[in-house]
Amino acid sequence: MSTTPTAVRDRASQQVPDLGPSELHDSGASHELPPAETRSDTRASIAAAVMVLGCLLARLPDRLLHETGLRGWVAGLVGVIALVSGARVIARAPFTFARRSVSASMWVAEQCLALAGTIAVGAVLTLPLYALIRASSAWWLWAWLLFAGVTVVGQAAMPLVLRAQVGPMIPAPLPLARRVLVIGAQAGVDLAGGVLIAGKANTKGPRCNAYVVGLGPSRRVVLEPGVAAWPPELIDQVVAHEIGHWRLGHTVRRLPITLAAQLTTFALAAAILSFQPLLDIAGVAHPGDPRSYPLLLALTGALVLPARLLLARYDRSQERAADRFALGVLGEPEAFARMLDRAADDGGAARQLPWWRHLVAGHPPIDERILACQQFVPAT
Ligand SMILES: [Zn+2]
Repeated sequence: MSTTPTAVRDRASQQVPDLGPSELHDSGASHELPPAETRSDTRASIAAAVMVLGCLLARLPDRLLHETGLRGWVAGLVGVIALVSGARVIARAPFTFARRSVSASMWVAEQCLALAGTIAVGAVLTLPLYALIRASSAWWLWAWLLFAGVTVVGQAAMPLVLRAQVGPMIPAPLPLARRVLVIGAQAGVDLAGGVLIAGKANTKGPRCNAYVVGLGPSRRVVLEPGVAAWPPELIDQVVAHEIGHWRLGHTVRRLPITLAAQLTTFALAAAILSFQPLLDIAGVAHPGDPRSYPLLLALTGALVLPARLLLARYDRSQERAADRFALGVLGEPEAFARMLDRAADDGGAARQLPWWRHLVAGHPPIDERILACQQFVPAT
């Protein structure tokens, strides 16, 4: 039984808007890292963040450009990205080395490969951003539009991505399909597309999952093999929870909040980057100067965190609402609580969370959901 969450699938499924050809939501189970690994990850992240601040305060980018004589902002920026990425790898090294499952030489090779990938991805993502910053004072608006476009397209494509990950689907056995269709009818949803079982679990997400996918006559319920093997009365609860997400329009409601959070983050970043005393501390002439890269990284971390907390809080409220929907439709709180227990045992959903993990979790911890379930009073 695991005690800390990652809710990987939650993020993926929650972000899918129901304006495209499909909608889907997760079952509430979540993929877990063991607590020790989570703590190690957190310490490594803190060490990397401190290293970025060190690069900024020591004005290492300026020294690099001075010593190497790199000319032009593109070459300069790639050089600074390589410098800062290398510094972050070094900061994380004690933690990643302690957790390695390969020989020391293999670990070094892996780190070098990861560093090369980080530099390449960093350059691909950052060069267009700096081009915008250098071209227009309204760069933050253009950058947000690009980011928002990628978000919407990514979410619309998520059902296809998940489908590719879970492999070919097979129709559910008739008794199970009948049960699910009855629940759909009780919840006011016509599942004309039937009930399918995914060929394999999505290894990048929770180990037990279910979705409501598709529009109109193609709308169907997909159960991953882990969930499909549960007792029927527990599957009922999962399906009712998923239908709750669909009926309550959770995906389409979340999208504008996500986009607004992104816009606020970009606007704040632009305002702070135009504050000259801050640029002076970093030894940067203007925001489009490649030397500002560590400042931009530090700023991104500081500004993204509030947005992440806000969205996680919203996600948890949606999960509670889907739980209440399921309880209202089926009126079986004991079975729902047993389903949550099973999600913890089989799917790795966290039963309890330390406060700092709770703040960024997309699902309330299982114990909290069970308590709410026990206290649920049906509407009269
Ligand atoms: Zn859910």
